[in-house]
Amino acid sequence: MTYAEVLAPQSKLTARGPEEMKAKKLLSEVIRFRRMAHSEHSCFPADCPVCMGPHLPKVLQAVQKGEKIRFVLPAFPGKSPNKAKVLGVLPDMAEKEALKFLNNLCDRIKAHYSPGAEIIICSDGRVFNDIVGIRDEDLTAYQKEIGQLIQKMGLKNLSTFDLDTIEKAEDYDSLRTDLMEKYGASPEENRAKVKRGAQDDATPEEIETHRHYLGTTRFLVEDSLFPGQTKSKNALQKECRAKAYEVLRRSNAWTSLIAEYFPEAVRLSIHPQACGSQKLGIQLVGASNWLTPWHGVAVDIGSNFVLMKRRRAEKLNAKLILDSRGEPSHFKLEKIEL
Ligand SMILES: [Zn+2]
Repeated sequence: MTYAEVLAPQSKLTARGPEEMKAKKLLSEVIRFRRMAHSEHSCFPADCPVCMGPHLPKVLQAVQKGEKIRFVLPAFPGKSPNKAKVLGVLPDMAEKEALKFLNNLCDRIKAHYSPGAEIIICSDGRVFNDIVGIRDEDLTAYQKEIGQLIQKMGLKNLSTFDLDTIEKAEDYDSLRTDLMEKYGASPEENRAKVKRGAQDDATPEEIETHRHYLGTTRFLVEDSLFPGQTKSKNALQKECRAKAYEVLRRSNAWTSLIAEYFPEAVRLSIHPQACGSQKLGIQLVGASNWLTPWHGVAVDIGSNFVLMKRRRAEKLNAKLILDSRGEPSHFKLEKIEL
């Protein structure tokens, strides 16, 4: 299927009637914060009909029923194990800022639509933490803390859903095996999908899958270059490419599970998405920042927070700030030299 064919049915969608106008307005409140993958299909206005295409029917349905608009976002998978990038294993100011942003996004919708909106954070950490080097117990502590932050900070529009919610088990390997048996593609199918994303006639989903694969490989290589690593760069690249394929295969299985559990929800993503994609890429902290809270640290630059890798904040001589419990929270930059 070509890109044009994918878009054709969506571009026929035109806003008619007050409910459709309302749904478009509400969706544009989210689209204005989107993360757009730059490609020949890039677009700019927040009311781009092609960007709205896959999501508008879901928003419209909620509006017609007078119900809360529901979004799902696979995110907050656990802190990177790379200490050059993050402060520790638990959520810190970077996560707090991202959670606040997501809650505010729902408040923006509520200002125009009284039933409001909710975002269900579907953490995909448990789905692939064993591949990316996050220990199960660290992830458990991270997930628990995210839930507590939502409570303590009074973020009423947010809730969480993860693999542990579906099945209570201490044996996380068997949880992952069950998920893959029910929802996983074969390794061959998965590789073929990634490769199709690099071709000229790829669909937005295939393009995103390929980008996701490249990004995951980059992160995995970066995280394995710790002091004392004895493997050659070539050997690491090869190992990380194989791991990235498996991260993607598991991620996609999680995506299928979420779609089954929340068929009415608009699917958000933390990854930049092409115009017309079934997933809507959303920023978390700051407009131009492509890092995520779990791959970086929050740096207070006076007017707002930005994300950067811990190593960079330290090089800039930013001051480490502790939270009320005495745990590292974020950095403060006195003199701004970004
Ligand atoms: Zn667009």
